[in-house]
Amino acid sequence: MDQEHKPERPKLRIAILSRGPRLYSTRRLVEAATERGHTVRVINPLRCYMNIAPNNPEIHVNGKKLEDFDAVIPRIGASVTFYGTAVLRQFEMMGVFPVNESVAISRSRDKLRSLQLLARKGVGLPRTGFAHAPDDVKDMLGMVGGAPLVIKLLEGTQGIGVVLAETPKAAESVIEAFMGLNANILVQEFIKEAGGADIRCLVVGDRVIAAMKRQAGEGEFRSNLHRGGSAELVKLTPEERATAVRAAKVMGLNVAGVDVLRSERGPVVIEVNSSPGLEGIEGATGKDVAGIIMKFIEKNARPHRTRTRGRG
Ligand code: ADP
Repeated sequence: MDQEHKPERPKLRIAILSRGPRLYSTRRLVEAATERGHTVRVINPLRCYMNIAPNNPEIHVNGKKLEDFDAVIPRIGASVTFYGTAVLRQFEMMGVFPVNESVAISRSRDKLRSLQLLARKGVGLPRTGFAHAPDDVKDMLGMVGGAPLVIKLLEGTQGIGVVLAETPKAAESVIEAFMGLNANILVQEFIKEAGGADIRCLVVGDRVIAAMKRQAGEGEFRSNLHRGGSAELVKLTPEERATAVRAAKVMGLNVAGVDVLRSERGPVVIEVNSSPGLEGIEGATGKDVAGIIMKFIEKNARPHRTRTRGRG
């Protein structure tokens, strides 16, 4: 009987902020939106320009004012976070529902800040240290438990700038080298028992909707697919599910890729990604992740909200 009272699925106008219309994730989102009867447009955030006027925020592209949208899916690359989140903020000011909010994306792009927020809320993490002055490094290394240690460039992505230092001497010299280049780094307990595997949990709303285990290649501890890792289906424990959902929630992300390591003391989060790639996870799990994201939008976006905004 519920079926009869189900309201018709709303037809939404959806913008995807992406520089790569041909990228797998962007194409899948376009496909899923179109299949479900929505109109969809891929917009390069770097080609948006804006006025910051009171009560009447606008976005222009190619000499024209952008049409109204009900929802915006940000797929903002790490290298364009600053401008991309400013554009997204403009959509938000116009009353468009953002799948992930600009503040949450900015937050997630700062690894150290993310870990501090997660730690404050009691989410399991590897022991992590951070120091500015070379003179403090030795003591800080003691704080995180000493070698072997993982040293990470704060600006790194896709495993680049993530180094395993197996001895105290190696750790000190790697840190010295990074500090000499004025790079910001964090130092982390090496979760050896993870065996070069991590688990990518795709969170949408308050559920893990897909998960895969990524295994590093031979002689490598980093399991990034870009680094030659391979992906397979994995069954999560309830604790792992709860950890991933909580991590996304703490970060304020509706859609997130939460990377978890299986440590002796339970799941520990190493990263929360606000623009998770869909290709690896759809391939490994066979799930229609793009379709699930659309359903989330249908549930949460309020059509035609843009028109009434700015009056009150
Ligand atoms: P990026 O953001 O560049 O992907 P990550 O912090 O996710 O960097 O690290 C890359 C990979 O290195 C992870 O997917 C994981 O396999 C491995 N790794 C990262 N941190 C640790 C750690 N503390 N202990 C063991 N392995 C780790």
